[in-house]
Amino acid sequence: MTELTRRRALALAAALATPALLPGTARAQAAYPNRPINIIVPFAAGGPTDVVTRLVAEVMARDLGQPVVVENVGGAGGTLGAQRVAQARPDGYTLLLHHIGMGTTPALYRRLAYDPVNGFETVGLVTEVPMTIIAKKDFPAANLAEMVRVMREQKQSINLANAGVGAASHLCGLLLQSAVQTQVTTIPYRGTGPAMTDLIGGTVDLMCDQTTNTTQQIRSGAVRAFAVTTSERNAALPDLPTAAEAGLPGFEVSVWHGLYAPKGTDAAIVARLSRSLQVALRDERLVARFAELGTTPVSQERATPDAHRAYWQADIAKWRPIIQAAGQYAD
Ligand code: ASP
Repeated sequence: MTELTRRRALALAAALATPALLPGTARAQAAYPNRPINIIVPFAAGGPTDVVTRLVAEVMARDLGQPVVVENVGGAGGTLGAQRVAQARPDGYTLLLHHIGMGTTPALYRRLAYDPVNGFETVGLVTEVPMTIIAKKDFPAANLAEMVRVMREQKQSINLANAGVGAASHLCGLLLQSAVQTQVTTIPYRGTGPAMTDLIGGTVDLMCDQTTNTTQQIRSGAVRAFAVTTSERNAALPDLPTAAEAGLPGFEVSVWHGLYAPKGTDAAIVARLSRSLQVALRDERLVARFAELGTTPVSQERATPDAHRAYWQADIAKWRPIIQAAGQYAD
């Protein structure tokens, strides 16, 4: 090969490797990500959605080779943060990590500034987490049956904290009040992180929240726990009875978390994010930390765009008639 042909061959190889010469999808894939990615958590820092997101974001950042910054946009039961992402540029740099509220919001809110059903691309399911029914540590009840009695006797003078209409704590609180057949006073926060601070401080009486926020507080005695809301006991809190065991049969809530991008994000970018999510969910440190917090990552097959879209849409269909029958709307 002459020097000239060798140079030409090298120039051709370099040109072929240049993203500008690649077709659209391949170009998006090759160049992405080339700057930091933001994940919006639609609740305050320190709460369960925030905890899950930060653990996932840390591993995804390593896998993607770019910082993954977690931003808390709390308020209105998670709808403010979801709106921010639905209206963001669909370029793969603004994502949403939300929970079961993605399933309940479309029925709970009849007017929203974004489309809660079709406004997002699904990246994948992340985890399913049990909730716990907890109280401030000097709440005058030793178990769930006594708590039910106190709720019935003291009604509106009992304060039940939640993260706003559409939050998991709101849903669990509604189910609890309907199971107990009484109404207490609900106090909305921007997330159950700050609500937990007030529960520990004794400013509010009761809360339902994910084990990812409550396990350490229950173990240390900072709050009192009455039940876990799944049909099985939780390995991180083996002494805590299920709600059914403790006297509320049929009382079951499990919270799921999913990762989303704005509608219209390139499929190759969504696929790249999904692969990265799957790497995170296999990470040994993450799995161990999730276990300490009473949860496990979902299987790799469920952490995919199609599987999560099907799961999410089925959840919307599941909650709509229940919410409509209860006539519980946020607006
Ligand atoms: N666990 C909260 C809820 O009630 C939200 C949060 O702060 O993560 O939905």
